[in-house]
Amino acid sequence: MDLCKKMQDSAMSQFHKELAACSNEELYCMLLDLTKELMKDAPEITGDRKLYYISAEFLIGKLLSNNLINLGIYKDVKEILAANGHSLADVEEAEPEPSLGNGGLGRLAACFLDSIATLELPGNGVGINYHLGLFHQQFKDHKQNEQPDPWMTNESWLNDKEKYYTVHFKDFDVQAHLYSIDVIGYTHKKNELLLFDLDTADEGIVENGIDFDKTQIEKNLPLFLYPDDSDENGRKLRVYQQYFLVSAAAQMILEDVKANGWPLSELSDHVVIQINDTHPSMVIPELIRLLVEEGMDIKEAIGQVEKVCAYTNHTILAEALEKWPESYLLQVAPQLMPIIEELDRMAKERDSNPKTAIIDDSRTVHMAHMDIHFSKSTNGVAAIHTDILKHTELNDFYKLYPEKFNNKTNGITFRRWLEACNPQLTDWIISKIGDGFLKDAEELNLLMPYAQDAKAQQEVLAIKAEKKKELAEFLKKRQGVEIDPDSIFDIQVKRLHEYKRQQMNLLSVINMYQEIKNGYVPPKKITVIFGAKAAPAYIIAKDIIHAILVLSDIIANDPVVSKYLQLVMVENYDVTCAEKLIPAADISEQISLASKEASGTGNMKFMLNGAVTLGTDDGANVEIHELVGDDNIFIFGTDSDTVIDHYAKADYSSAKIMEEDSKVADLVNFLVSEEMIALGDEENLRRLHHDITTKDWFMALLDLESYMNERKKVYAAYEDSSKWASMMIVNIAKAGFFSSDRTIAQYNNDIWNL
Ligand SMILES: *Cc1c(COP(=O)(O)O)cnc(C)c1O
Repeated sequence: MDLCKKMQDSAMSQFHKELAACSNEELYCMLLDLTKELMKDAPEITGDRKLYYISAEFLIGKLLSNNLINLGIYKDVKEILAANGHSLADVEEAEPEPSLGNGGLGRLAACFLDSIATLELPGNGVGINYHLGLFHQQFKDHKQNEQPDPWMTNESWLNDKEKYYTVHFKDFDVQAHLYSIDVIGYTHKKNELLLFDLDTADEGIVENGIDFDKTQIEKNLPLFLYPDDSDENGRKLRVYQQYFLVSAAAQMILEDVKANGWPLSELSDHVVIQINDTHPSMVIPELIRLLVEEGMDIKEAIGQVEKVCAYTNHTILAEALEKWPESYLLQVAPQLMPIIEELDRMAKERDSNPKTAIIDDSRTVHMAHMDIHFSKSTNGVAAIHTDILKHTELNDFYKLYPEKFNNKTNGITFRRWLEACNPQLTDWIISKIGDGFLKDAEELNLLMPYAQDAKAQQEVLAIKAEKKKELAEFLKKRQGVEIDPDSIFDIQVKRLHEYKRQQMNLLSVINMYQEIKNGYVPPKKITVIFGAKAAPAYIIAKDIIHAILVLSDIIANDPVVSKYLQLVMVENYDVTCAEKLIPAADISEQISLASKEASGTGNMKFMLNGAVTLGTDDGANVEIHELVGDDNIFIFGTDSDTVIDHYAKADYSSAKIMEEDSKVADLVNFLVSEEMIALGDEENLRRLHHDITTKDWFMALLDLESYMNERKKVYAAYEDSSKWASMMIVNIAKAGFFSSDRTIAQYNNDIWNL
């Protein structure tokens, strides 16, 4: 049936109105229903070998546009709405963003689901249906304030699968209730994101921001992603969530296998489980436990599971490698301990080195160690990251299992990060090289000749200018701030973490502020934009946000400096916001301390949208650098080997740098200047100052001078608009490698074999 008639009929039957008379909310509900119906009819992707991508988070973003694109009706819907006086962009605003994830790891999982379906591989996501997300960030008195982030409305993308799985905790049982969200690929075939929930969840126990009683497990379990783990009850709740997810998942997977009539002895022929970081690691012992319950010999069960599971490592930060005291596991799911003990015994038989033990001398269980010993593959997420895993961080394991280690450089889905968020650039690319790149991203290389084409340069600059205007309108509406679309947009958006070094960016902005005050006039106005959530219990991260917000007001209040410089921090950085910020960026700030950012995926999104990277040789920046060459990127800072050496020798001292470099000292001391303290909170500012001067664990001061120098070079380069546009085009042309379709094809070839 023709789409226009269908939309008109739906409007009439649901709201008794003509399309033209519907509100944006009504149109959203109508399109949600229509899309869900079309997806229901889409063929499922099937096969006799199936992937389960299990993850604590899926940062899926709004789904309407993406689903319309993948169903092939995006343009038609847009035109029909326009013909009736509506804009699809306005309708999209009525959609709440699902709060099922928090940062890069969750966004990666979401991009992967899109690519898995697009490549027509049978593979489902498996996760938890958090009711209130991580948190909704608000700024109050220059500080981050956390509120619940509810997203489920009566009408949502969720489907009730009407299935329950009993999860046994030590003191009680719960019923995991299965929901799903359809994941439609670009060829209109579908997989699912499977999400477990609890009917007994009670949002009423949340009070005063995001505080709640952490001991009422049946009520609180699916409420929040990463509940505050600064106390013991918070940490135990995380173990409850993890066991809940893996136990329900393992039961469901075995049920699927049986429903297909496959014997459990052939489990590893039919099932592969990709463990996304260590949060779902307990799926290994849980699956073994269930197989033994089914009558399988434990040795055989371990052998099967070892062939079924594969593990992705996302970080080398020691504090992020999860380990749980045995006492927690004994309180939550004691039935797992005999299995983990057996795995530990076998691991110790394979290697007597205490550094690879699963259970250490203080009876702590190391999740990553269990993953590496008892899965078939361990992968890092960018070339440099995998190298560091092999040769430094996980070297003891690499020597034991060289064949298990492999690299899968992350990727992003171009459907969302180009087609949906930047239709103007997409159309421009199609006008130059046709639409083949939408299926084979490497075809973007065909754009290379246009880098030197004056007309093409003018065109990409014009598109960027349009996206900057759109961002200015978006921020005005969303947050009430006005930014100047004629200024340079210099953007750092990502989770707030000291290793990502937002504090280094902040110190450099202090330098810009002081220079302008002292009479230096930059060639063009600069708008520095931050967006970042800090974990609620991460004190220094929140202090950095505080300092940014205070400095932002100091600059805005200065009648001279504000003509040349603006500092903005966007509230509640999420996917919706990323989709507006990234297409509008001139400069992509990727300034992590070399060796610390496993990959990054923000860097890829910016590049694809024609931003030029200012960054360190870290994570996937290294691969971006190799692809675009020295002339189309701005790289600075200490290299990863030197950084690793500083840690090994413990010879880094921020105090020493401040002693030797009075300029750096002045910038750091500005944090506790009268100006800052007059507007901000002295305790917060002093704590941040103290941390940087006495510790600076992620070495912001090490690279500050070279960062400030390189930043000046970027701003100078921007003045040559033809050269700048050619850099933009080279970045777009070389971004094909970072399509998650490529990443997924590699996972499938090397690990999944679907
Ligand atoms: C891509 C993305 C991230 C990851 O950004 P990095 O710069 O790679 O850390 C985090 N949050 C959102 C909303 C994203 O879209």
